[in-house]
Amino acid sequence: GLTAGIVGLPNVGKSTLFNAITKAGAESANYPFCTIEPNVGVVEVPDERLDVLTEMFRPKRTVPTVFEFTDIAGIVKGASKGEGLGNKFLSHIRQVDAICQVVRCFSDENITHVAGKVDPLADIETINLELVLADLETIDKRIERVGKIAKQKDQEAAFEYDILRRLKETLEAGKPARTLEFTDEEMKVVKQLHLLTIKPMLYVANVGEEDVADPSSNPFVKDVREFAKRDNAEVIVVCAKIEEEIAEFSDEEKRQFLQELGIEQSGLDQLIRAAYSLLGLATFFTAGEQEVRAWTFRKGMKAPQCAGIIHSDFERGFIRAETVSYDDLVAAGSMAAAREAGKVRLEGKDYEVQDGDIMHFRFNV
Ligand code: GDP
Repeated sequence: GLTAGIVGLPNVGKSTLFNAITKAGAESANYPFCTIEPNVGVVEVPDERLDVLTEMFRPKRTVPTVFEFTDIAGIVKGASKGEGLGNKFLSHIRQVDAICQVVRCFSDENITHVAGKVDPLADIETINLELVLADLETIDKRIERVGKIAKQKDQEAAFEYDILRRLKETLEAGKPARTLEFTDEEMKVVKQLHLLTIKPMLYVANVGEEDVADPSSNPFVKDVREFAKRDNAEVIVVCAKIEEEIAEFSDEEKRQFLQELGIEQSGLDQLIRAAYSLLGLATFFTAGEQEVRAWTFRKGMKAPQCAGIIHSDFERGFIRAETVSYDDLVAAGSMAAAREAGKVRLEGKDYEVQDGDIMHFRFNV
């Protein structure tokens, strides 16, 4: 599955946030396919639609879909030069599909800040610079190889060479590769480079307990938001400490606790949803008397591929998928009523599954 890596300088709240993630962790019996490693936290993806479907179908069990976060400890200034756990750290980032960068926006005199003071923008720059430098090294090596071949009038090499030049220019200006625009054809070449700064980035502003109700009053949060806007990235505000405290609460306890603090949705829930959509993921459902279940798919996947997420036999023997959109089903009130209203479609192998589809696959064994 796809995973988002949690990074950040020391003492910004990464471990606290990751603890919250593992404490809130999904019941692993339901998810035998998930990675079980100490630095991977598997969380359920919050989805109100599951509650509505459970109410409607009254199944024996309801199973949410899950998302994996990977804890990547150890970035320091100079990581790209191999300082600290530098190289190891960068190779861990290479393996994740998106980056959640935790930035410290809470002031606490008892907790040392590596750079001496709370300064989220300087922190972001420190980390982003290490990623940019690591990518520059990758590009320079590649330019050396491809440049020679390109000179021999090799068209493919020339095509790549041009992309490499553009990347180099952008990185040298201190900007991440993700700020460049590529055609699909170019993107295929870019992907082969396994760059760090091409990965989608999400900033997690970690604020103190006193700021959760009104994060806009925290000037650091304002700074991060402005920066992210220019960087084409998203910002989620959390108080990692509170998230750790409430991680093991029941849904009802959590709701009450957050209400008292004046918050609608927990920061962790917002983070899960944001990381999920950042990766281009969406959810389809299966629903029956036995089980109502949410499944993760990549936007753009066709019906047989989605069937394959449930079981490879479903993909191999795929015939059709009975499909109804969530909104249509809810408007109709029941599966029978939706069928009567002609809202249940029979979709074939070319159907592109949509977020919220309720699907029943028909297949040959
Ligand atoms: P890491 O080095 O980035 O993993 O940081 P930690 O999660 O170990 O946090 C460093 C210190 O900051 C710990 O003492 C935490 O309790 C504290 N801390 C983390 N998040 C918060 C927060 O939201 N508010 C406050 N006041 N302290 C926090």
